[in-house]
Amino acid sequence: MDHCCRPEPAECDCAASVQEGRAALSQENGPIQRCPHDQSQGKPVQLITLKSLLTPQALERLNAQASYRFCNRARCPIVYFSTEGDRVVTDDLKVPVFQKNPGQAVPVCYCFGWTRQRIQQEVAQHGQSSAIATITAHVKAGRCGCEVNNPEGRCCLKNVSDYVRRQQKPYHHTTV
Ligand SMILES: [Zn+2]
Repeated sequence: MDHCCRPEPAECDCAASVQEGRAALSQENGPIQRCPHDQSQGKPVQLITLKSLLTPQALERLNAQASYRFCNRARCPIVYFSTEGDRVVTDDLKVPVFQKNPGQAVPVCYCFGWTRQRIQQEVAQHGQSSAIATITAHVKAGRCGCEVNNPEGRCCLKNVSDYVRRQQKPYHHTTV
C-alpha cells in the first residue's frame, strides 16, 4: 500500500533512469514534502490550523518557521508533517481526526457539529440527511471556520457529501 503513488513523468522506460531522475529532481527542489510514515504527499495546511487544534504540549513544539502538510491516510498516525522534519500525530490534537478515527462521535463537519452518528441517525429516520443543505447555507452566510476547526484546515463539504452518499446507499438497498 506504500507503493500506490502516482508514477512520476518518466522520459524513458528504463527503471534505473527514472530512479536517477527522481533523485536529481528531489535535490534540485530541496527536501521532498512527503509524509515520513507512508510517503503520501499530503495537502498544505495553514499554521493557524495547527495553532488552533494542537494540545498545549504539542503547541510548545510547533515549528512556526516551517510549512506543514496534512496527511489524510486513515492508517497513518501522522496528522501534520513539515519539510523541516517536524511531525504531529493524532494524540497531539485536541480533536479526533475524521480521516484517521472511525468513531461514531467523530465530526465529519467540525464547525456545525455533524458527527457520523448524527448523519447516520438522520438517514435512518428520514432516509436522507439534511447535512449538506444545512452546512451549505451556513457557509454561504459566512459562518464556517474550517481553518480553525477542521484538522484538514479546509471546507469539509466534500467529506460530508461523500459520507452522506455512502450512508444513503446501503439504506436504500436494505429497505423494503
Ligand atoms: Zn501519513
